This record gives sequence, structure tokens and C-alpha cells, in this order.
Amino acid sequence: MYEQVAAVTTTLRPLAKPFIVCEVRSRDTCSFWNDNWTSLGPLIEVTGENGPRTVGLPVNAVVADALRDGDWWISASRSRNPIIQLIKQCLPNPHDILRGGEEDTYLWKIGDSVPSSKFSAAATWRFLNPPGPSIDWHGAVWFKGKIPRHAFIAWIAARHRLHTRDRLISWGLHVPSNCLLCNRFDESLQHIFFDCDFSQEVWSYFTSRANVTSPMVFQDVLRWMNSPARDKNVAFILKLAFQATIYIIWKERNGRIHTDSARSPSALIQDAKTVIRCHLDPLSRAQDYSNPSTVSFLATWFYLFQWAFFCFFSSFLSFFRSSFPFFSFTGKVCLPCKACKAFVISGI
Ligand SMILES: [Zn+2]
Repeated sequence: MYEQVAAVTTTLRPLAKPFIVCEVRSRDTCSFWNDNWTSLGPLIEVTGENGPRTVGLPVNAVVADALRDGDWWISASRSRNPIIQLIKQCLPNPHDILRGGEEDTYLWKIGDSVPSSKFSAAATWRFLNPPGPSIDWHGAVWFKGKIPRHAFIAWIAARHRLHTRDRLISWGLHVPSNCLLCNRFDESLQHIFFDCDFSQEVWSYFTSRANVTSPMVFQDVLRWMNSPARDKNVAFILKLAFQATIYIIWKERNGRIHTDSARSPSALIQDAKTVIRCHLDPLSRAQDYSNPSTVSFLATWFYLFQWAFFCFFSSFLSFFRSSFPFFSFTGKVCLPCKACKAFVISGI
């Protein structure tokens, strides 16, 4: 355990050192050469290894060792040695640091910020890893309620990092260029997800059922996905459907490389519908139904994509609405089932 801590400390010390500054007070702890107490960083890094020998201060000297009668003793030196001249210019006014009594204090300083006694891992991380340029499709990929594995593949695709065959060939790999889904055109990100007839059949199923018109260029779809419909339930389901489409098409494409299986667009649509419907169930139960006009995600889903079930359920509600105690109605809006909170039908 000790060896592990020592190894981590040895590894991290060089990384942490630039962030640590010393506020000189008592002057008997701060290292003259190795601590960052001037505005130029550790003086040993300014003068090089010859600094201590040239100046006449040992490498383990503290700041107090460099003071004589309230002034830097090196100030009286008439030497023209460039290292001594450099040190003279680097040293701060001794009257600014002559505040005896308290111990020298080590603080954490990030960039040009004011040194602080508090350490912030988040601020340090942001300094070491500055954020890149902002993107306008963030909401289409990383939204609340996403299916994580679908969002991850959609993000990889959005960054144009999927290993499509056009990219493999551009790297010099000898692979066929044809699309594995239609076998008629070359495979690229734009083709495999939007230009290919196979993929169009899957994606157009969801857009046509939701009665929306989607762009057909990948980057345009990403931006459009920030707000694909006015109804928030429909918009949310379309985002899930978009990511599910990307995921299952890429999975089908990889399956055709590694196995002999080849499934139809309708089979992929059924898979996507099953995954999305199962995902919407717990989300619907967690919705806030204090507002009578709230419509559950599942109700919107059945209305859009499983109309037969919706009609059956609507008839069921209409038949029992006057006597079934778990349901109540306000005008045209059916309030949610108080037992499961899942089904809220509007306009029946
Ligand atoms: Zn194709």
C-alpha cells in the first residue's frame, strides 16, 4: 500500500508542482530555490543548476537565509555575473514579505487566478483540459432520458468516428467499399444512415408515423433533432427513435460482416420499437401527473406507433369510464390511471 501511495505521489508531484505557490510570512519554511514564491516560479528553474553555487546560497536554503537586516544580502553584491543580476531582478521587494509571526502558507493557484487555500478538482481539470468549441447538436445526443448505449453510438457517429468503409480505405486498408446493407453504393456515414434505401425505410417509418419531415443530411438531422416536434412527448420519442435507428443500423451492418445473418428493415423497426417502448414504461411511471393535462410518454407512443392497441385501450376506457373507479375525466382529457400512472389518453 505504501509503495502504491509513493508511486502515485511520485507520478503526480511534477504535475501538481506548477499549481502550488508559497505565500511567504515567517520565511523559515519556504525554500529559496525550489518553492514558487516569486512571480517567476521556482528560482532554480530560472537560474539553472548553477544558481545556488554562483549566488552562494545552498540549494536547501530558506527565504530567511537570503535576508540581512531587512534587505536581500545579494543586493549589496557588485558582481556582474548574469545569474546574480538575474536573481536581483527576480526578487520581490523585501518589505512586501516581511510579515513575521505566521507560518509560510502553501496555496493552490490555477492559471492567472488568485491563489486559494481551497482545492477544486473541477477547476483544475478544466484548466488542464480546456473545453473545445461548442457544438450545436449537443441536445440531440446527450438529453435527459436517453438510452445510454444508443446515445454513445450516436455521439460516435456525430463526431464522424465510426469506422465506415470510406474511412478505412482512406487509411490505406484494403477492404471492399460497398455498402453492406444495399450492396449497390459505397459505404459512408451519410450513405449508411440516410442515403441507403435500407436505412431510409427504417428512419422514414418513425418520421412518417410522427407526421414530421426530417432533413436527410446527417449533420442537418443532428441540428434538427434539437427540437424535432412542437409536442415535447413526440420530440422526446423522436430523439429516442433517431438514436435507436443509428444503433440498430450500425449493429446490423456489423452483424453482416461477422455473421451470415441479414435481417430486414421491418425486423430492425420491431427491435427498435420494443427497446423504446420498454424504456418509456418506467419514465411514464415517474412523470408528474399533478397537472391534469399531462400526457404520459407511453400514451403518446401508443398513439403514434401502436394505433391498434391505442384504439383498443380507448374503447376499453370509454366503456368503463362511468363506472371504473381508477379513471376520471375532465372535459376531453382522460386523467392518468391512479394505479399505474402509465396511460393518459388525450382527446377521447
Ligand atoms: Zn446502402
